[in-house]
This record gives sequence, C-alpha cells and structure tokens, in this order.
Amino acid sequence: MCKVFVLDTEKRPLNPVHPAQARQLLRNGKAAIFRNFPFTIILKEARLDAPIQSLRLKIDPGAKYTGMALVNDSTGEVVFAAELKHRGFAIRDALTSRRQLRRSRRNRKTRYRQPRFDNRKRPDGWLAPSLQSRVDNIKTWVKRLFKVAPIEAISQELVRFDMQLMRHPDIQGKEYQQGTLAGYETREFLLEKWNRQCAYCGIKDVPLQIEHIHPRAKGGTNSITNLTLSCEKCNKKKGTKDIKEFLKKDQSRLERILKQSKRPASDAAAVNTTRFALLDVLKTTGLPVETGSGGLTKFNRNQQGLPKTHWLDAVCVGSSTPILNIKCVKPLMITANGHGTRQMCGTDKFGFPSRHRTNKQIHFGFQTGDIIKAVVTSGKKVGEYVGRVLCRATGSFDIATKTGRISGISYKYCSATHKKDGYSYGF
Ligand SMILES: [Zn+2]
Repeated sequence: MCKVFVLDTEKRPLNPVHPAQARQLLRNGKAAIFRNFPFTIILKEARLDAPIQSLRLKIDPGAKYTGMALVNDSTGEVVFAAELKHRGFAIRDALTSRRQLRRSRRNRKTRYRQPRFDNRKRPDGWLAPSLQSRVDNIKTWVKRLFKVAPIEAISQELVRFDMQLMRHPDIQGKEYQQGTLAGYETREFLLEKWNRQCAYCGIKDVPLQIEHIHPRAKGGTNSITNLTLSCEKCNKKKGTKDIKEFLKKDQSRLERILKQSKRPASDAAAVNTTRFALLDVLKTTGLPVETGSGGLTKFNRNQQGLPKTHWLDAVCVGSSTPILNIKCVKPLMITANGHGTRQMCGTDKFGFPSRHRTNKQIHFGFQTGDIIKAVVTSGKKVGEYVGRVLCRATGSFDIATKTGRISGISYKYCSATHKKDGYSYGF
C-alpha cells in the first residue's frame, strides 16, 4: 500500500504516514480526509515533531503511460507510486475525425475563398495537441504532488541512451552482453538502430544478442559501428564466419546491413521533443532536476531484480537511485479522461448535425466525472454503489462501478466523494 499524505493545519505537507496510522488519526478525530486521490489527510491540531524528510519525485514519461514515484533518497523507501494513462491517441483520433469532416465540407461545390489572414504559422516550441496533453498531464500531477508531499528534487528519464558512455572504447567482450552500465546503453542503442529485430533473419520479439559484424576472431573491433543484433540461432550459425561469406546468398540483405552499420550514431538518437518540453516544465519548479537515460533505468532495475512496469521504471530513473525498499507498494492507476466536449452540435459519422448538446454541465450539484457514493434505500436497485458518475439533466444518473455500469440512479441518493478533475482512478 502507498503511504498516506499528511497536511498540517496550514496545508503544508508533512511526512507521509502508514495507512494504519492514518486510520487511527481519522478514528480518533485528530485528522480529516482532505482528498481521496491521492489519499491525503489534514491534521486538526498543529503539531511540531519529527523533522520533515525530503522526497524525490521520479518520472518516466512514455507515450501511453507515464510512471511516477516518490522516493526517499536516504532510506530508499518508495513512498508513493502511480501510473498515469494518457489520452494522446484519443485526442489524435478526435482531431482527425474533425479534420475529415471539415475537409469534406470544403470539397463540396462551393466557391473558392481566399484565406483571410496568414494564421498558419506555429509558434516556437509548438507541440501537437496529443503530445502537449502528455506534458500537461504530467505537469498537473507534479503540481498536485507538490501540494501534498515534501518534494525537494526531481528525476526524469530524458533520453533512451547515453551517447557519451558508448564512446568508451575500453569495453570488452562479455560486458556488451550484460553487467555494466555501458553495456546497457549500448544494447538500448543497438535495439533502436536495428529496429529491435535480428539483422540476419528479421525475427522479432525474441531475446537478441549483440553480434560483431566483422568477427572478433578475425580482427573485428568492439566499436559501435561493428555491432549489430541477432537471434541466438543466427548468432550460432554465423559463428566466426565473415559476414560476406555468411550472407553470400542474400546480397540485398548484406548490402542493407553494411549500409545501416555505417549510419552515424546521432541518426538513431532521435530527439524526443515531448521529453525535452517536459524537462523545461520541470525546471520551472526551481528544484534540482536530474536526468537519466533509458539504459541507466534498465540497468538500475535489473541490478535490483525488479520486474518491468511503468512505475518501477520511474523508481529506477537516474543515477541517484538508492537501494530500494518497495515493500507492498500498490501504484495508483490514473487515467486521463479530459473535460468533456465543448461542441454544441453533435454530428453523425457523415458530418450531418444529429443532436444538440447543452453547455450546462452541473446537474443537481453533480457533474459527469465526479466520483460518488450512492446509497439507494428504495426501489429495484437497493444497495450501495461507488464509482464515476454520468449525469443527466433529468436527475437520473449512471454509475460506473467496479462490477459494471448501474443506470437509473436518482441524484437524491448520491453524495460526491471526489469532484471531477479530469482523471479517473483505480489500483
Ligand atoms: Zn536471426
């Protein structure tokens, strides 16, 4: 279980406490629930005790999921972990469909209209909406965590591999296959460069080994341009054979491999603009921001024998990673849902107006996206339901519970436990 965040009477963050201690504080009336997600309590009396231990916020940004974790650097304890699911693809699809509808409208028989002004220039640092939403989601959560936890430093995974480390010429034989940090960086780089497949047969999703194009036995070097990836079968088959001899029958592949091997390293190190934009955002907090590479994350994770998940990747970001204590941490699963639509005229799939939407969002004090608890005392649906609500102007709501959707619950039975904030939660 993650620890529970604690605020003092002035809403300043204190050391997070164990859930059992939080329960006791709540039971004794010494604290009240401040927020449900992430679970935060607020003390009712001022307390001056234990010095506040600073935490480090660690972030592993990804396209679909971003891992986040709060780690106590001095004890190695993981205090809080979360996985944030982005809606980048939903945004992209929505914009594509809108664009298509508008395109078809323009293509109908209408006169040509000149553009009225030049409004097609994009400002510097512009990101596509789907990418910007990822940055904004993380920004939102960094802000939220800042409010409830004593964060003093940030770590972010910035690049896939560290080009500097790979230039070390003194890495020998086995070190490429496993063990050292440089080995991990090299492997990450090669996976990217060779498209995560065997160079000789093209097989994917199997363990790949690092292979010398010009064999070591015949004077090949350990330089990065002489390395590729192959499956075990091909690696064994090739042995110490020269590549020209090994691929005698497949000249086109031979040419492709030789050409690819000479491609400069910087080609594969495609700069990820989203991550750099995020770094700029994190720097505005004024706290020291440490950056790490994907190779380093993987190295840290494997050193401590942890499985691959988004939140554990976040925990392992950066060279400051201590020996970790991740006893029974349950990550909070956060899904970005957006804030609904502003479109007043709903269209069918052909672009014809089919329904009218209202801009009124709040009905009887509730709005779609609130997490509510409904205690139904009469009728067919007697019982207790907890979940995300879908509101209607009629006052008949639907509740998405863990077991499924319950429809037709009157607003009279509902009380909100967490107001809509654009996200939904699970464990
Ligand atoms: Zn192969």
